Amino acid sequence: MATIHLGALRHNLARLKAWAAPARVMAVVKADAYGHGLERVARALDADAEAFAVAALGDGLRLRAAGHRQRIVVLSGLDQPADIAEMQRLGLEAAIHHEAQLPWLAEAQAARGRLRVWLKIDSGMHRLGFAPERVPAIHARLRAMPGIDPEIGLMTHFAESEHFAGEATAAQIARFQAATAGLEGPRSLANSAAVVGWPQAHADWVRTGGLLYGLSVVEGRNGADFGFRPAMTLRTRLIAINHIRRGERIGYNGTWQCPEDMPVGVAAIGYGDGYPRSARSGTPVLVGDVCVPLIGRVSMDLITLDLRPAPAARVGDPVTLWGPELPAERVAAHAGTIAYDLTCGMTRRVLFVEDES
Ligand SMILES: *Cc1c(COP(=O)(O)O)cnc(C)c1O
Repeated sequence: MATIHLGALRHNLARLKAWAAPARVMAVVKADAYGHGLERVARALDADAEAFAVAALGDGLRLRAAGHRQRIVVLSGLDQPADIAEMQRLGLEAAIHHEAQLPWLAEAQAARGRLRVWLKIDSGMHRLGFAPERVPAIHARLRAMPGIDPEIGLMTHFAESEHFAGEATAAQIARFQAATAGLEGPRSLANSAAVVGWPQAHADWVRTGGLLYGLSVVEGRNGADFGFRPAMTLRTRLIAINHIRRGERIGYNGTWQCPEDMPVGVAAIGYGDGYPRSARSGTPVLVGDVCVPLIGRVSMDLITLDLRPAPAARVGDPVTLWGPELPAERVAAHAGTIAYDLTCGMTRRVLFVEDES
């Protein structure tokens, strides 16, 4: 069961706003709000969020269908000409990142309401965006299009802003500034890590996902270390305690061997729920409030636990996989991934509930 903490979401947005001010905050709710539930998160933040950002048009449609009136930026823009009229109808804003989109945009009809766009600049990540030297010409072309709102946003994305001392981000900022010098329009560079690590990149709008959910990608630093609160607790129960002999091997492929006669707990969660199969023996898990190591392979429905640190454990005890008492960042480090990947990976089998904490 995943509990989504609505109070934590509101706290995190307020904290992001305070941290980024005077820059404004786009709440990034792509990928079903990083697995927390798009409609649920948007409803919780509706009164406080000035703008949302999503990856694709379909999520913008869902937000409008749920009645949200904020600005909504579609970060990957349009995939086909027909998307333009749909975005105008829904009042969505499009990131423009590729040559192929320009002739489509030239056909946009002003009568449908001018489309707001963000010109995406590739300042060094080499994923989406125009090369810096092309930016003034593209900006001028967009400005001349009758169906495009003349206030054109200028946007870039960082490849490694979680490295606060790294040169790559400083170089990206410099390239962005050079490419956009003298151009009008609001600027947006920073993701979550840049909000806390690169204040010189806050500009007019920050685009924050991770920290909104209380999750950090900064090595060795949890969201809580920056004053944010995890918005998801993933919990299950202990369904068996078995006493296994020294030398026996646990689970598929017997990857973990008992060093002594010992109690082994079985909890009802697995990769079928989105708990990462890559979590290695030693990954921390809470049984009640005692931290114990995962042992053996994660299977589809079950995990096995070394219960030697928790001699009082009983069948039925709550088992916490991550949440405020056990940062998802710590679990992710044991699974060779980042916390975003864990919360995004929740499957449809997981029951979601909400609380106000
Ligand atoms: C996902 C994304 C963000 C948000 O990144 P976080 O690290 O979650 O804050 C911002 N901008 C773009 C373009 C993105 O794709």
